[in-house]
Amino acid sequence: MYQAFLVKYAEIGIKGKNRYKFENALCEQVRYHLEKIEGDFEVKREQGRIFVEATGEFDFDDAIQAMQHVFGVSSISPVQVIEDKSWENLTEKVGDFLEQQYEDAEFTFKVKARRSDKHYVYTSPEICTEMGAAILERFPKLRVDVHAPEVLIWVEVRDKAYVYSKVYAGAGGMPLGTNGKAMLLLSGGIDSPVAGYMIAKRGVYIDAVYFHAPPYTSERAKQKVVDLAKIVSGYVGPIRLHVVDFTEIQMYIYETCPHEELTIIMRRYMMRIAQDLAEKNDCLGLITGESIGQVASQTMHSLAATNDVCTMPVYRPLIGFDKQEIVELSEKIGTYETSILPYEDCCTIFVAKHPVTKPQVEIIRRSEKKLAGKMDEMYRKAMDTVEVILVEA
Ligand code: ATP
Ligand code: MG
Repeated sequence: MYQAFLVKYAEIGIKGKNRYKFENALCEQVRYHLEKIEGDFEVKREQGRIFVEATGEFDFDDAIQAMQHVFGVSSISPVQVIEDKSWENLTEKVGDFLEQQYEDAEFTFKVKARRSDKHYVYTSPEICTEMGAAILERFPKLRVDVHAPEVLIWVEVRDKAYVYSKVYAGAGGMPLGTNGKAMLLLSGGIDSPVAGYMIAKRGVYIDAVYFHAPPYTSERAKQKVVDLAKIVSGYVGPIRLHVVDFTEIQMYIYETCPHEELTIIMRRYMMRIAQDLAEKNDCLGLITGESIGQVASQTMHSLAATNDVCTMPVYRPLIGFDKQEIVELSEKIGTYETSILPYEDCCTIFVAKHPVTKPQVEIIRRSEKKLAGKMDEMYRKAMDTVEVILVEA
């Protein structure tokens, strides 16, 4: 019965002169997500909101879900389009709409009206009262409640008339493409996919890097990361996933440095490589799934020691989150089930029994000096052999 959807957005409404850029980016994203499902959709910008009109057959749930994946959308309402907006026809069609939507249900309601056709027979406040009266006449069981109605019935009169009452929550945030690109350090864990989602939600395109340590980490562990990237890509569009062969570097650190410093030194090399890849790919920052105190490598001291090698901003959107909060987010975005599959991670293979929890940057730097020379060669080789996988949902 619906031929159209009204897509509302919140934050981009306040962007002043640049507003049209945000609106265009949002329209483009809505189109991108709707292209992936069956049906023909036309996406139009209209007075501070977006209208999507469908022609032909389409699956309602798929359409709603596709639009719920678009950052920048605050809500989606399925709309009934009423071609003949004469008052007589409008009241009849609004009544039919309520009958189809709610059958015999009893509820309190309020009519909200908006009119861009300034020559219409009624003003907006008049539409509210007159339509309210017409509804009460046809459905005597209903009651008006102007303060806390159970159902808000929206009537809009433009070139045509529109009625809607259901509201589906959108993803919120800002449209992709309005805020540059960042490089996500994506492991197979719970945290990093959520971290990528959160930064992308602010309008940032995502590239990703995964540190693979064959044969210690298996093909299946790598496939799991590709699968996670694919789920995240359902929100953020195509992701270029860079797979770095980290084995040689890890082994060399393991052989050369004090074991309690292993994790920190390894993480510093991850950051260095990620940063080099980020620069080569026009990224303006790095993203990790770190959260203060979660593990030894994420104490304030450890984070400072890791961050010591970074010249680019590192975004850590989960920094103040508890694990349970992160788990809930990962369930919401659909990565949890994949994240908990039990494959090995390169960080867990060469771990010390007693890692330092308060590493001192000076000491770590000194340990790393022992790596020079041979490490430069390995580093170059790792960069030269990066595999790039284009992942798209
Ligand atoms: P996650 O659940 O994201 O794996 P974690 O709790 O296991 O995080 P760590 O293993 O200490 O924490 O990793 C911290 C962050 O470092 C991760 O969130 C991720 O951004 C990055 N990271 C860790 N291992 C890898 C890897 N193999 N490849 C790419 N990034 C990694
Ligand atoms: Mg991990």
